[in-house]
Amino acid sequence: MPVHSPVELAELDVTHPELSPALGYSDNLRELRERYRRFIEEVCRPREDPAWIHDIPAQDALFAELRPIAREWGLYGPMIPVSLGGLGLNLRDGAAVLEELGRSPLGPGAVHAAAPDETNIAMLDKLATPAQRERYLTPLAEGRARSCYAMTEPSPGAGSDPSMLRTTARRDAGGWIIDGHKWFISGAVGAHFAIVMARTDEGPTMFLVDADNPGFELVRDIACVGASLSSHCEIRLNACRIPDDAVLGEVGQGFAHAQLRLEPARITHCMRYIGLARRATEVAQSYVAQRNSFGTPLGENALVQSLIADNHIDLHAARLTTWHVAAQVDLGMSVKHESAMAKVFVSEAVNRAVDRALQVCGAFGISYESQLGMLYQNVRAFRIIDGASEVHRVAIAKRALRRQVSP
Ligand SMILES: Cc1cc2nc3c(=O)[nH]c(=O)nc-3n(C[C@H](O)[C@H](O)[C@H](O)COP(=O)(O)OP(=O)(O)OC[C@H]3O[C@@H](n4cnc5c(N)ncnc54)[C@H](O)[C@@H]3O)c2cc1C
Repeated sequence: MPVHSPVELAELDVTHPELSPALGYSDNLRELRERYRRFIEEVCRPREDPAWIHDIPAQDALFAELRPIAREWGLYGPMIPVSLGGLGLNLRDGAAVLEELGRSPLGPGAVHAAAPDETNIAMLDKLATPAQRERYLTPLAEGRARSCYAMTEPSPGAGSDPSMLRTTARRDAGGWIIDGHKWFISGAVGAHFAIVMARTDEGPTMFLVDADNPGFELVRDIACVGASLSSHCEIRLNACRIPDDAVLGEVGQGFAHAQLRLEPARITHCMRYIGLARRATEVAQSYVAQRNSFGTPLGENALVQSLIADNHIDLHAARLTTWHVAAQVDLGMSVKHESAMAKVFVSEAVNRAVDRALQVCGAFGISYESQLGMLYQNVRAFRIIDGASEVHRVAIAKRALRRQVSP
């Protein structure tokens, strides 16, 4: 059916006064954001195809085609440090950019800003030794390698409760031997290495494990609802022998180090998912402007207007809480409490927004032709990944009651 192109709708607000340098944003952020928007519209969207959701080799080939284009446009690696060939944006500027990228399922991967590589690069940049930087970080940042992060385990291992970690690493002549079972490990198909969390006598520890290690077994890719363009895999570590210098960070400090990854990861996920929900809202606005019911355009019906308005309210609030946490992280502040609240609010707000967008588009919304079917599937996992809403709520309430934190 004829609908306004989302390009036209997106063009309505490209001046972005809310990102003025007077408010502390970088001088070129508005121009940069506009360039990312054009990249999504002109390069990524024409290549979108739901058939790729579970076709990892096709995705890898597509990203290999798109990343040189991203480099030509000066858009490669927005969150990758400048020393590693990226743009080195801070999280506050990154929020505007990752939202634009989130408008296409291909956007983050096309510029090398997708999970889990994006946050693994940031963590390796903080923790890796010079030899680990050369072997793992440089190829990862340059897009010559892919990575995954392996924490979650099937029952009775670690899920919501990390203290249930069962994977073990024991010292052996000149190295370690890891035994364990992991699942839902994103990006494992095609990954060159995994960052594996395992229990040692000194406490939880992170290890760099090459995917071609004979003890690293990729059991299967677990088909999930939507869940973005990635594999989510079951992995076994079978007497997996690794050298001493495969320890990432300090032995026994794995959970503390993981916080370096978790808090920014939650927030960059929020940014990309806000972009996804914005895209859904654009499709809905376009539809209700065109479609008539009982003699009037849907967009003039107060009940439909209420749903559209609620999307804008949810997305505005989601942006503000995300930007606030991003600014705090940039200032080096501890954001455990705030990032948990932001993650719960944003993950639920974007689910509400995509659901409303789909509803006002009727059958067209359910279809993959509107893209809403794909966006609806992709957004659901966000209420579980990076900690389920219920787990965060319990932690938020406990902190609030312990410290008498005021709302
Ligand atoms: C698409 C996707 C990608 C993922 N990628 C990765 C990855 O790359 N690496 C990785 O290590 N993990 C990954 N995960 C796993 C993710 O981190 C876990 O799913 C999450 O931590 C929850 O653990 P669980 O699934 O074992 O849920 P469980 O611990 O089994 O909990 C199930 C449900 O019970 C409820 N619940 C649990 N504990 C509490 C509590 N204390 N209070 C109230 N309610 C509670 C919640 O509703 C929760 O959803 C991914 C998951 C998904 C869905």
